[in-house]
Amino acid sequence: MKIGMSEGSVVTWNDQEIKKYPTKNSILPFITDPLLAEKSGTVPLTEVPRLMLPFVPPKIICLARNYSAHAVEMGIDPSKLPPFPPLFLKPPSSVIGPGEKIVIPQQTREVHHEVELAIVVGKRGKNISKENANEHIFGFTILLDITARDIQSKAKEKGHPWFVAKGFDTFCPLGPMIVTSDEIKNPHSLSIRLKVNDEVRQDGNTRDMIHKIDHIVEYCSSILTLEPGDIIATGTPEGVGKFDHGDRLQASIEKIGTLTIGVE
Ligand code: MG
Repeated sequence: MKIGMSEGSVVTWNDQEIKKYPTKNSILPFITDPLLAEKSGTVPLTEVPRLMLPFVPPKIICLARNYSAHAVEMGIDPSKLPPFPPLFLKPPSSVIGPGEKIVIPQQTREVHHEVELAIVVGKRGKNISKENANEHIFGFTILLDITARDIQSKAKEKGHPWFVAKGFDTFCPLGPMIVTSDEIKNPHSLSIRLKVNDEVRQDGNTRDMIHKIDHIVEYCSSILTLEPGDIIATGTPEGVGKFDHGDRLQASIEKIGTLTIGVE
């Protein structure tokens, strides 16, 4: 099942049909109340709906350095990576959706793209074991972890948190839809790509993740309670780089689709 937003309604579709739900502005009631599915109308699918931003998550947890080749390009020896992945948060206010634009803040001269597979949490949980992780995963979407690299480098030098480089408004494009986990049997075999103005910059595969998804859910939930609608971004493959005003970013993950975002 694929899920997105269209003109204020939550829409879901499969190969044959599309359902519309009267929920506005948030997909959360749909996730927490599966009975909504019984209340909706079903119509034959004639075309994939034009999708808007899926929803604004309660929290967005991000992993850093979860692909060896990306760690290398950031100047880190992969053999010296810690046993648990470094984490940071992006604020819900940084989320934008398909067709919207990233605004480059005045404080930076070097904004980078990082395309990432994002887990959408479907069931509340704390201290979730690896074995039970799948029960808590609603589905997957695409996230762009936009980063002011010059600000991040200065923060790293001073030992300050990275939040200042990651939390600007518009720095978390999300979408274009959520694909439920039953449609993605193996999330560790998906091609993951990013193009800037049709030039391929990142071209990886989720098989190269260092920490796998069950471990990520176990580790994150050992720190905080995961809630329905939370997002966990699983790190970026190599090829991160600068983009500029007027560029167009296309982030694609196999079985999910393409998230297209402009730059103001
Ligand atoms: Mg990242």
